Amino acid sequence: MKHRTIIEPFRIKSVEPIGLSTEAERIGQLKEAHYNPFLLQSKDVIIDLMTDSGTGAMSAHQWAGIMEGDEAYAGSRSWIRMEQAVQDLTGMQHVLPTHQGRAAERIIYGHLGGPGKVFISNTHFDTTRANIEFTGATAIDIPIAEGQDPALQHPFKGNMDVGVLDQLLKQHKGHVGAVILTVTNNSGGGQPVSLANAEGVSSICRRHGVPFMLDCCRIAENSWFVQHREAGMEHTAYREIARRMFALADGAVMSAKKDGMVNMGGFLALRDQALAEACTNLLIITEGFTTYGGLSGRDMEAIATGLEEVFDPHYLEYRIRSTTFLGEKLHELGVPLMRPIGGHAVYIDAKALYPHIPPHEYPGQALVCELYRLGGIRSVEIGSVMFGTYAEDGSLRPARMELVRLAIPRRVYTQSHIEYVAETFEEVMRTRQEVRGFRIVKEPRFLRHFTAHFEGL
Ligand SMILES: *Cc1c(COP(=O)(O)O)cnc(C)c1O
Repeated sequence: MKHRTIIEPFRIKSVEPIGLSTEAERIGQLKEAHYNPFLLQSKDVIIDLMTDSGTGAMSAHQWAGIMEGDEAYAGSRSWIRMEQAVQDLTGMQHVLPTHQGRAAERIIYGHLGGPGKVFISNTHFDTTRANIEFTGATAIDIPIAEGQDPALQHPFKGNMDVGVLDQLLKQHKGHVGAVILTVTNNSGGGQPVSLANAEGVSSICRRHGVPFMLDCCRIAENSWFVQHREAGMEHTAYREIARRMFALADGAVMSAKKDGMVNMGGFLALRDQALAEACTNLLIITEGFTTYGGLSGRDMEAIATGLEEVFDPHYLEYRIRSTTFLGEKLHELGVPLMRPIGGHAVYIDAKALYPHIPPHEYPGQALVCELYRLGGIRSVEIGSVMFGTYAEDGSLRPARMELVRLAIPRRVYTQSHIEYVAETFEEVMRTRQEVRGFRIVKEPRFLRHFTAHFEGL
């Protein structure tokens, strides 16, 4: 018999209690947190969908590896396992371990960047952009046009616009630091990139003689989409698809907190020896010796195992289908969403959900607070709170979209948790007319979404 029901392909060996609360308690907690979910305590949160980064559950095999971790300063057995796992996956000879993704970014883009340099990506993730701009270089995003329309259906909305890439490489000849393909495209809604697009980007980069880097945080999730959506790929294994994509690139940066299936870690992988040597010098200064970077031996052990487990076809099927499951449930309820649903998160279009709340009253923040009040669900506003700026007259220059992200941690929540989230949205939809916006009463100059205080209107 072939079953319709896709079960979690694991059983639970160790549990962490969730503290349940009442709506009245949550109203008080929201007030104390100044209506900013970053200021809530995790013990009060029922379902935490703030991020999928470092929030996953490790397997019994990974936990066993934690005990096996070799904490030697140099030449650790765990390092050799991790190095081999990364070399085997990426086909890249030189591997530099780092404490997380942004440390690898700082090393490589610090080296390739500098004033006057230009970096081009399908969409730079915010830490990538920050590390590039910090060197004085410019970061340019060129997603395909289809990727910028929330409701439009397209199989690979994460793709880079190769026509524009070719023009930009001519225009900035001699000044290009690197071209970076982010798979899946996190800031672009967790949307996948096709192998054909990666091939196009690679050949243009070769022709112009510029380095092509993969930001491979979610390379396994991306491989699922390639196998299921790209013509001719249906019989190619996920790991093989990932290998083919790596084969096109000169280097890769990974936050292992995503598809590395660990709570902390990352790496930089490179083909070119001279470039690797320059980066290794920076690694030793800021992260640690070459055989541990910023990591404990036990962390490296867990990464080596995580990189194997993430390509398990049953895991990937469950992972992508369970994210889609939430998205489709919300779609049936009439919740306006970014579609198709990406790999790691569901994005809600708060502007369309609350058309009566203008961007300067932060409709995304209103939804984030409603989800917490009604269900104890923590989510993140990705709109004018995060990206809005002020014009000279003090008025808000809103972000392009007012989104709320529900990111799904790996192997943490079960189907009933997700059904609880969907049920909370039934009430969100019923009461949508009554919801009011917010104003900011206190904010720092940079990255205000982390610490700003709000007041209901
Ligand atoms: C998370 C992430 C990073 C940064 O990694 P950290 O481990 O958080 O430093 C870079 N790029 C993408 C696409 C990411 O999702």
